[in-house]
Amino acid sequence: MPKAVPEKRFEAVLRQYGLRATPQRAIVIEALTELSHPDAEAVFAYAQRRQPSMSLATVYNVLEKFHAVGLVTLLAFHGRRYFDTRVEHHDHVHCRQCGRLTDVSRDPKTRLVAPNVASWVIEDQKLVWEGLCPACREA
Ligand SMILES: [Zn+2]
Ligand SMILES: [Zn+2]
Repeated sequence: MPKAVPEKRFEAVLRQYGLRATPQRAIVIEALTELSHPDAEAVFAYAQRRQPSMSLATVYNVLEKFHAVGLVTLLAFHGRRYFDTRVEHHDHVHCRQCGRLTDVSRDPKTRLVAPNVASWVIEDQKLVWEGLCPACREA
C-alpha cells in the first residue's frame, strides 16, 4: 500500500486554487483525476484504499471546498451528484446500463435553437447524451 503523501503535481493544483496541500485534499484530487466523474461515495471508496482513516464527512468537506473555489464542477443527474475536474464547457454522454459518464467534445459555438426560448438570453447549453457505451453494447 503506497503511503499517503501529497504528490507534487496535486500540491501545485491545490496552490493554484489558493488551497493548502493537505494529504486529504491530495487524495481527493487524485481520486477525481483517476476516476471519471465520480460521486462522493466513489471518491470516498477510493480515498479509503489510500487512507483508511479518512471519513466520508472529510470527503464531503473537501469536495465542497473544491467546488467553492472552482476546482470542480458539479453535475446533478438522475438524482446523483457527480464531480468533474474539467471545468470548461463540455457535454456528457451517459450509459443507461453501467451509469458511466464520459465527456463529449462539441464546439460550444454550435448553439441549439428552439422557438419558445427565442426571447431568452441563453448563457449556456450543457447536454447529456444517453445511450449504451461500447462495453455494454457488446454484452
Ligand atoms: Zn455501459
Ligand atoms: Zn466531464
